[in-house]
Amino acid sequence: MDILWILWSIPTVIAVEETLMDSTTATAELGWTVYPVSGSSDNSWEEVSGYDEHMNTIRTYQVCNVFDSNQNNWVRTKYIRRRGAQRIHVEMKFSVRDCSSIPNVPGSCKETFNLYYYESDSDTATRTSPAWMENPWIKVDTIAADESFSQVDLGGRVMKINTEVRSFGPVSRNGFYLAFQDYGGCMSLIAVRVFYRKCPRIITNGALFQETLSGAESTSLVAARGVCIPNAEEVDVPIKLYCNGDGEWMVPIGRCMCKAGNEAVENGTVCRACPSGFFKPTQGDESCMQCPINSRTTSEGAINCICRNGYYRTDSDPLQMPCTTVPSAPQAVISSVNETSVMLEWMPPRDSGGREDVVFNIICKSCGGGRGGCTRCGDNVQFLPRQLGLTETRVYISDLLAHTQYTFEVQAVNGVSDQSPYSPQYASVNITTNQAAPSTVSIMHQVSRTMDSITLSWSQPDQPNGVILDYELQYYEKDQSEYNSTTIRSRTNTAVIRGLKSGSIYVFQVRARTVAGFGRYSGKLYFQTLTEEEYSTNMQEKLPLIIGSAAAGMVFLIALVVIIIVCNRRGFDRGDSEYTDKLQHYTSGHMSPGMKIYIDPFTYEDPNEAVREFAKEIDISCVKIEQVIGAGEFGEVCSGNLKLPGKREMFVAIKTLKSGYTEKQRRDFLSEASIMGQFDHPNVIHLEGVVTKSSPVMIITEFMENGSLDTFLRQNDGQFTVIQLVGMLRGIASGMKYLADMNYVHRDLAARNILVNSNLVCKVSDFGLSRFLEDDTSDPTYTSALGGKIPIRWTAPEAIQYRKFTSASDVWSYGIVMWEVMSYGERPYWDMTNQDVINAIEQDYRLPPPMDCPSALHQLMLDCWQKDRNNRPKFSQIVNNLDKMIRNPNTLKAMTPLSSGVHLPLLDRSIPDFSTFSTVDEWLDAIKMGQYKENFANSDFSTFDVVSQMTMDDILRVGVTLAGHQKKILNSVQMMRAQMNQIQSVEV
Ligand code: AMP
Repeated sequence: MDILWILWSIPTVIAVEETLMDSTTATAELGWTVYPVSGSSDNSWEEVSGYDEHMNTIRTYQVCNVFDSNQNNWVRTKYIRRRGAQRIHVEMKFSVRDCSSIPNVPGSCKETFNLYYYESDSDTATRTSPAWMENPWIKVDTIAADESFSQVDLGGRVMKINTEVRSFGPVSRNGFYLAFQDYGGCMSLIAVRVFYRKCPRIITNGALFQETLSGAESTSLVAARGVCIPNAEEVDVPIKLYCNGDGEWMVPIGRCMCKAGNEAVENGTVCRACPSGFFKPTQGDESCMQCPINSRTTSEGAINCICRNGYYRTDSDPLQMPCTTVPSAPQAVISSVNETSVMLEWMPPRDSGGREDVVFNIICKSCGGGRGGCTRCGDNVQFLPRQLGLTETRVYISDLLAHTQYTFEVQAVNGVSDQSPYSPQYASVNITTNQAAPSTVSIMHQVSRTMDSITLSWSQPDQPNGVILDYELQYYEKDQSEYNSTTIRSRTNTAVIRGLKSGSIYVFQVRARTVAGFGRYSGKLYFQTLTEEEYSTNMQEKLPLIIGSAAAGMVFLIALVVIIIVCNRRGFDRGDSEYTDKLQHYTSGHMSPGMKIYIDPFTYEDPNEAVREFAKEIDISCVKIEQVIGAGEFGEVCSGNLKLPGKREMFVAIKTLKSGYTEKQRRDFLSEASIMGQFDHPNVIHLEGVVTKSSPVMIITEFMENGSLDTFLRQNDGQFTVIQLVGMLRGIASGMKYLADMNYVHRDLAARNILVNSNLVCKVSDFGLSRFLEDDTSDPTYTSALGGKIPIRWTAPEAIQYRKFTSASDVWSYGIVMWEVMSYGERPYWDMTNQDVINAIEQDYRLPPPMDCPSALHQLMLDCWQKDRNNRPKFSQIVNNLDKMIRNPNTLKAMTPLSSGVHLPLLDRSIPDFSTFSTVDEWLDAIKMGQYKENFANSDFSTFDVVSQMTMDDILRVGVTLAGHQKKILNSVQMMRAQMNQIQSVEV
């Protein structure tokens, strides 16, 4: 406050008086002009030498004509130059005789005199001019004495001196005269000083003001602009002071203040840079402050202090606050485990880093899990009150897995932790959870129903908390009391509930059991058995279908026998028979309980329900179709963009349903989405959603830039390394393992149904079932068989013969896909007829290794083509096998076909016998190298004799640059040579 006051006030500076004339400094006679002229009257003003009160010699003018009336005595100074002054001050020292002290003095005796001035541009006054009278003279004032003296002693011994100051203005001529008029007094004019006033040069309020002359009137104010001193800046308004008539500064406006990094010193007249170790963050009057703890300056004039290494400041920390650091680790973490939850408590860190904003984060890692190492816990683990930013020193963690080891790291962080290059310090604690009952089953479906049974399936609990031993299903008739409920056990997550009343609604609840006991029952769900009426309508619809689907008389008979046997074995569950195939998915023994399973959309009474459940409805406004890229079963396949709210735009494939479809076609078309929507695996095509609420109906999937695998391989014949091909096969096997684990049987695994993206990632696609239907005759790949059409070349014998489609039959198809991949899209069994293929397989013939196919891969194909499906590898084994090959590429070097003993290789038709062709061109076409016909002809390789002698150099010279093509031609040439030799030896 004091500092502010100093700067805001104007220091008392004595006004500067500039003297224009001073009678006391005269060294000779003053020589002023007197009227009436000296000598003409004895009694006018007279210059007399005398002494002042300090006994200095002075020149005075005296007059004393008190006894004569009508006195009019003037004395006029010499010409006084104005020197720019506008207001003139006159200081007069004089003494006056008290009239009453003079004996017999007449009444005309005066004790006052008059002061006049007269302006003139030059010294032109004479004895008579200006006239001795007011006007031309201007009267300033009548001057009276404060003190008069009674005893006159012109020797100066007794003298009472008055001092009076008068001022006048404005003056504007170059100079002026003063005159003193006596009209009958007795007085002595001891000293006259004439001066003007100036406001002095001053530094105040942070600015310098130059010397300024005062104004013409005593009340006038002359404005002066100040200039900020170095390192100061004006605040708000320009700084000003006013100089008043008395030469005093007043009315300060605005001010200058020292800039940031500078402080005011020397009474606010200098702004000095803060010395090192001090700082000043803003412009203002405050002084520089010492750097707070853990900070320093790098130079003088600092506006802030930077933190020392390892210390930090947040954006909101005041600069005066010490720099702070990260906290040390929390202390003494204690855990108390309760089944699958744990309470952690700890003590605050010993060192808070100098801050008060320490909070705690919990890092959860589950360890062990059979694989060693720890992994971050998933999103399902719950933290109360929260996981991050805990202000309290305890947290309750729940929903952990049972019997699992966890490590919890309690991190201490504060406002500056994110600036530290090091991870937060933490204290950790290891715990192992106890057993806990499984969580609730949340989804239950009706798979099928008859008049007296309902087949249900359900999902496994989100948290099984251990191995699920079985499920308990409780049910009762809706109209009955819950106390009359029946319970049944199921080792799988499906159950057929028999012995129910027809047309009745039953209430179902299910719960899972582990060694820890039962979980809680699911919510109640209601399902109804068929009424008699519904049943008979159902049967009437189904019978012609069963009969109609039998292909020929004999086959029909066998089929009938099979149906009857199956029906008998199952006690002929009437309406159930339709689902026999599908039910295999749920009841096959190897399925582990609690496993997520695939649900056939056709088991829904209303397949639209399945679409709603498994496929997301997309608004058509989010979809932008760009171009047609192919033809699907039901309409065009296009590429386009999908922009879902809040998500990034993505490139997608859009399958459309052509207009004029029947309700059945719509259902079949959308069934693919209901199937695809249940899958989530990097090697299975991903469904984005469906558009069913506008026309055309669409299925939207991720976009696969390289299209279907068979075409892609044909277009890039010989272009990939074996490892790349094995990588593709590994992806397909991994996708198939996932599908098999979900109990989904594909039935049409073939390279044409694998899609490839720009990263060569292969994904299993084509989940539509319609191509198997009897009424579709457009595609020769699918051959009519009992109960539908079958892609013979890709299908396992048991599936062809008695429709035993299983994951093992998918493994057979996978072997064929391997062969397609290794031969770059060659047609399996080349141009053999389907019947020849069936016969050859029956006689244990198998496809030979494609050209350059490592024997390990061919062996794997042969394993997939084992006649007994139980001997075929599982997809998980195939994935492992391929992984091993990728890890040890040496195992892929051996090319000699392994003789398996059981399998007879078919004659490799990929390199045809040259003797069946009449020209080299025909031969080149047959080995699919027709594009080099001209190259061969131009280089004179136009007969089999010369071609059979070609070396790699020749092939290069002809202009075959692609490595894969060079190999293919060289192999075919070698084969030609071998065939020629054979022919020759036969001829010999
Ligand atoms: P589909 O009806 O599934 O056999 O599809 C017909 C053709 O459309 C396929 O052979 C592909 O060439 C193309 N196609 C289908 N789905 C996609 C996709 N997701 N990405 C790129 N092309 C696709």
